[in-house]
Amino acid sequence: MSVPFYTDEGARPRRLMFVAGGIACMPGWECGIDGCESAFDDPEDTIVHQTTEHERHECAVCGTIVPEGYFAIRHAFDEHTRAEFVRAYDADADAVREREEIKAAVEDNADLRAVVERLNGSG
Ligand SMILES: [Zn+2]
Ligand SMILES: [Zn+2]
Repeated sequence: MSVPFYTDEGARPRRLMFVAGGIACMPGWECGIDGCESAFDDPEDTIVHQTTEHERHECAVCGTIVPEGYFAIRHAFDEHTRAEFVRAYDADADAVREREEIKAAVEDNADLRAVVERLNGSG
């Protein structure tokens, strides 16, 4: 499961690096930001990595600064409509679906409260 958000070329969403049909077959999790490809056993580690090791992202819809990766995906889909996301990021239906699948997979597999506690604990 690769957890990407954007390319480095402006706000255009990156093409994702899924192995097959939207959900990666490989075990483990992979950071998909800007070709980073750091791999982790747990989604929690992946999200902590994305939040602490990558530059923050400015939401193209509302200008809020959010952590790259999962938190940026969550912000986009919790705070904005799909139509707003598509318009602001020049995204297509596949990009929306892929991110929705990532978001659901993370939320099914990760203890997000533990992630937040780790992030708070590390400053
Ligand atoms: Zn990374
Ligand atoms: Zn926003």
